[in-house]
Parts: sequence; structure tokens; C-alpha cells
Amino acid sequence: MEWEAVIGLEIHAQLATKSKIFSGASTAFGAAPNTQACNVDLGLPGVLPVLNEGAVRCAVKFGLATRAELGRRSVFARKNYFYPDLPKGYQISQFELPIVGKGEVEIELEDGTTRNIGVTRAHLEEDAGKSLHEDFHGMSGIDLNRAGTPLLEIVSEPDLRLAKEAVAYAKKIHTLVRYLEICDGNMQEGSFRCDANVSVRRPGAPFGTRAEIKNVNSFRFLERAIDFEIERQIDLIEGGGTVVQETRLFDATKNETRSMRSKEEANDYRYFPDPDLLPVVLDEALIEELRGQLPELPDEKKHRFMEQFGLSLYDASVLTASRDLATYFEGVVAAAGGEGKLSANWVMGDLSGFLNKEGKEIGESPVSPEQLGGMLVRITDNTISGKIAKEVFEALWNGEGASADEIIEKKGLKQITDSGAIEAIIDEIIGNNQAQVEQYRSGKDKVFGFFVGQAMKATKGKANPQQVNELLKKKLAG
Ligand code: ADP
Ligand code: MG
Repeated sequence: MEWEAVIGLEIHAQLATKSKIFSGASTAFGAAPNTQACNVDLGLPGVLPVLNEGAVRCAVKFGLATRAELGRRSVFARKNYFYPDLPKGYQISQFELPIVGKGEVEIELEDGTTRNIGVTRAHLEEDAGKSLHEDFHGMSGIDLNRAGTPLLEIVSEPDLRLAKEAVAYAKKIHTLVRYLEICDGNMQEGSFRCDANVSVRRPGAPFGTRAEIKNVNSFRFLERAIDFEIERQIDLIEGGGTVVQETRLFDATKNETRSMRSKEEANDYRYFPDPDLLPVVLDEALIEELRGQLPELPDEKKHRFMEQFGLSLYDASVLTASRDLATYFEGVVAAAGGEGKLSANWVMGDLSGFLNKEGKEIGESPVSPEQLGGMLVRITDNTISGKIAKEVFEALWNGEGASADEIIEKKGLKQITDSGAIEAIIDEIIGNNQAQVEQYRSGKDKVFGFFVGQAMKATKGKANPQQVNELLKKKLAG
């Protein structure tokens, strides 16, 4: 009998405001410990929190982009618990009335299909501080700089069935918050973190008991953690055990999840409306103002790329994964005379390969869209072959010339299309390799590749490959 996994994600996106959600303290990353937490962030007696309008605007933009029901009136609540990184004893969050209600996002699957995944809600809350264990022996350090940093907690419906789908969903939310410029998406710095809820069941049966894996901070770990957890639960049930509702941690080095706390030890948060904060009422004017500020969203861009440039769903979704990449790609197409597919191949192929190898972002590419597009024009007009283009591209990357044309000229890379010249070279090769000619004529078709190789070697790769093929076929036929 088959098993089916049921997965729901809770994602914390740190909102890109300059100051905290209820105080004027800075949210900049990397400051010396405890230099950016003020009295309000610490909840000292007598302080009053004041809501940062910037955080509200970010949340509303997210709601609009996910076609969600906006909470016209949302309420902040105190979530009470004690932890060393939360000295005030409660976190301000939203509970019964979140600012963003039910919405949805579209994800792309590897088989080329798409699925809509429900977003249950997205609510505003403040982050807690951070416990530091490295560099401290026999004790922990506490850094409260992060206390009061605005977060948007985005909760999905339990609509996901595979670890890969969960990753596609998480990547989509990541893409979306960066398009909206409401979160920088930096996972190393903790600006974007995922909790995965996982259970297993027989298809069609009611949902099983879930375990929650906390704070996964890379997409690769998310997939591994969920896959491990699914296997663990199946083995447990098949061995006669039962899954208990608990919080688990993923250990990336051991590639396993470990129990952190069970439901029995779970906190009763005693939520109640924060008496220091007024309910947030969204008026239509603000909503319409923000709607007007939305950029072209990733799905719209993706569908436009498919129509306008004839790209596959896969290519279009890769190229629209970030706004910078999409803008770069459109720059290449424009400079390449509208060659969409060729541009896509080069951006996703050679360019991405070079960027990855040197750990560079698209914005740091030493080859500009105009330079790459200009080179592609020389492929389409047959000045150079696709193979020689790789050499030209590398030279552009290394700054050996300002344009493809300059490099082609300087290095003498122009393609040989003079059929008389190619014919002379081929005649010579045939004359010098009679044994191979015999083999070919006696039916060993594979030897053809040898002749192509020789012709390319003799012309340093500059002979037009199509002409070489045609002429060789003709001459070898006898
Ligand atoms: P809590 O607030 O206790 O974490 P929620 O009901 O808000 O619980 O659910 C948190 C997440 O768990 C949501 O993303 C939801 O989709 C997911 N979830 C709920 N039930 C299950 C289940 N049986 N299996 C997997 N995920 C689940
Ligand atoms: Mg939860």
C-alpha cells in the first residue's frame, strides 16, 4: 500500500523596513550585539509601541500579490512565553485577525505543469532576539538586536504532497517577496526562514499527526529535511509505532531530524489583544495606492515571456525567478534582435555557468546584456558558429574586448563560409586519410565524426559546421 505525504509550510520573511515594527531602532544587519535594541524592543516598563506604517504597506502588497482577502481590521495580540532571547516575556503577533487572509500562489512542477497552492494567512509580528553559543564556553550570549524586527509569517494550506513541491512553493514565495521588494530574501542572514509541517497518510484517509521541522534556512536542506521526515514517519508507522505531534530540528551534517519538544511540553501562549496597540484598519485609498505600486509579478512576467519569446514554462520560470535576471534577459533579447530562445539558452547556459563558478550574482556579471546580445547577432548572421561563440563569450567575460565584434576581429574568429576554401581543406583531409575513407565506405558511419573533427582542427573551429557536413557527405560518397 502506498503512502502519501501532507506538507504545510510556515515562512518567516523579514520585512525590508529601515526601523523596527514598533520602535525607531535600526534593523540593519551586522551591528555589534545589543547596540540596536531600544527600550520598546525590550518591553521595559512604561514604554509604548507605535506601529511602523512601512510594515503594514509590505504586508498589504503581499496580500494583493497573492490575490488574498485583506483583513480590513486586524489586531495585534501578545503571545506569552519565556525564552532567554525574549526577556519581555511575550511576542507581539497577530492571532485571530491577521492582516492578510486566504490567498494563493502558482507553482511550477518539473513535469511542466502548474498547481495553485493555498496561502491560509499572512500576519505581522515582531522577531525575538538571538542566543549565541559559539565563542561562549559554559554559557550563552544573548543578542537582542533582532528583537522587534518586523516579520511577515506566511502560512500555507496543507496542499503540498512532495518535498519538491514544498521547495517549489518556498522558492515562489521567495521570488514574490523580492519582486515586491518587501524582503531581501537573504537566507544566510535569516531574512527568510521556513518551518515545515509534515505528516503521512494513506491516500484519501484523514490527515495524519504532523511533526514540525523548525527554521530550515536553505532550499536544499528543506527538501532533504522533508524527505527524511516522510521516511521516518512511514518506518515508524509500519513498525507498529505512532507519530507524535512535536517540534523537530534538522541536522544538515547528519541528514536527519531530531525531536526538540513534544506537544505535551508545548506552550499555551495565552494570546490576548495587546492593550498598547490599536486595531489596524485598512482604508480603500491605501489599498488602491499600493495596488498601483505593484510591479509586473513573476507569474505575469512568466506568461508574457512564454508568449512573447516562445519560451517553455521551465525556461520562463527560471528566467523570471528574480527581477534582475528577467531584466537582464530582456536586455539580451533586445540587443539580439528579438532572438528569445537563443538568448534564453545563453543566459541559462554559459552565462549562468560562469556566474555560478565565480559565485557572482547576475548584477555582477562582467558581460552586459548589450555585449551578450551583440554576440548572439553574430551567431544568427553566421559570422561565428555556436562553438566559436563560447570562445568569444569567455573573452568578453575576461574583458579582452569591448564587444563581440572587436574580439572576433582581433582574434580572427570569423567563420569560414567560403565553400571553395572549405572544399580544398576537405580534399586534403580525404587524400591524407585513405584508410578511414575505406572504413566509411564499407559502412562504418562513425568515422564521419573523425573527418568533421579533422576539418574543424584544420580551420581552428572556424569552418561553418553545416557546410563542412554537407561537403564531407558529398565527397565521401565517392
Ligand atoms: P500551529 O499554529 O499549531 O502551527 P496551524 O494550524 O497554524 O498550526 O498549522 C501550521 C501549518 O501546519 C500550516 O502550514 C498547515 O498547513 C500545516 N498543517 C496542518 N495540519 C497538517 C497535517 N496534518 N500535516 C501536515 N501539515 C499540516
Ligand atoms: Mg506553527
